[in-house]
Amino acid sequence: MKTVQVTQEKKKNEPVKVQGILRGLFSFVPKRAFFEKNALNYPMGRRVFNILRELGTEVKLAGSHNRITGIPGKTAREAYMEAKRTLVVGVRKTLDFQPCKPSAHFQLPLVTSCPGMCEYCYLNTTLGKKPYVRVYVNVDEILEQARQNIASRVPEITVFEGAATSDPLPVEPFTGALAKTIEFFGGQEHGRFRFVTKFTNVDSLLGLKHQGHTRFRFSINSASVIDRFERGTPRLIRRLEAATRVREAGYPVGFIIAPIITYTGWQEEYRDMVTLLADRFGSGAGLTLELITHRFTRRAKATILGIFPETQLPMEESERKYKYGQFGYGKYVYRPEDMDQIRLFFSDIVHEYLSQAEIEYFV
Ligand code: SF4
Repeated sequence: MKTVQVTQEKKKNEPVKVQGILRGLFSFVPKRAFFEKNALNYPMGRRVFNILRELGTEVKLAGSHNRITGIPGKTAREAYMEAKRTLVVGVRKTLDFQPCKPSAHFQLPLVTSCPGMCEYCYLNTTLGKKPYVRVYVNVDEILEQARQNIASRVPEITVFEGAATSDPLPVEPFTGALAKTIEFFGGQEHGRFRFVTKFTNVDSLLGLKHQGHTRFRFSINSASVIDRFERGTPRLIRRLEAATRVREAGYPVGFIIAPIITYTGWQEEYRDMVTLLADRFGSGAGLTLELITHRFTRRAKATILGIFPETQLPMEESERKYKYGQFGYGKYVYRPEDMDQIRLFFSDIVHEYLSQAEIEYFV
């Protein structure tokens, strides 16, 4: 790989003026970036390149966004930490969208991975040891495919999930891809968009013409789970403040409570979390809730222990039930009696504090 020599000549109508942008305005400042050469032929690719140049990030060319070499790290932990500080800018070639049960009909691939470092992250199963952050600059082509998927299902409504393999918000200041996608869906009678985030840089999305077609969800958890396992992400109170601003901008809002983990005092802490929601959202009219209990695969456990050997994540197989998943690999979920207890508990507290919220699913 070699360092990029891109023409310094400014193109007319360059999408953004980036001079003077301060590093402090970005919640994620990559340590290094790799560009597929072709990515620079897209306005979004040039926009990301210009921002990185302003931020002083080292940029190299890469053959394919799927095969990035050159991320340092002698140990599993170092490799993981370095990958999480690496941005890869590519062109998405696979436009055959995957299904996305139970939250949507299709995944909408805008971003892969995220700079957060949650110990339990499901990407530990799918992305392996170097989960570098990937953005795709051919958003127009991706949205054109979405348009065709929508058309093929009319008069049904087709729902797309924008966070199936990522948290797309930290890289939004670089790409503007979410803004573009939200406005695209604002114009789709039969298309709906949803994504989930733990991050709070929502301001650039508040004034968009969303027409209520995008559901903006925040991933939240109990105080102990956030403190112990959700490294590099904003605290609960900041997520709730962001959710409040999003609701005031007229978006449908939801919360994903995941992963639900049982430990000494879990009921008390989850009750506290739900009361904080009720303080801001009253009885929860219009809110959707998605409840996902903790699960892990053998592969994820090995990866997590390699990166975070001191982790307190509960991953004792003998305390779980083994279950085959939709992608062919098995996972360890809570035992049926524990699932029943968790389901009942959440159903009770939601009924008590957020009686008008809708629980979309519990898994
Ligand atoms: S914020 Fe989401 S995508 Fe990012 S590391 Fe945490 S769980 Fe994974």
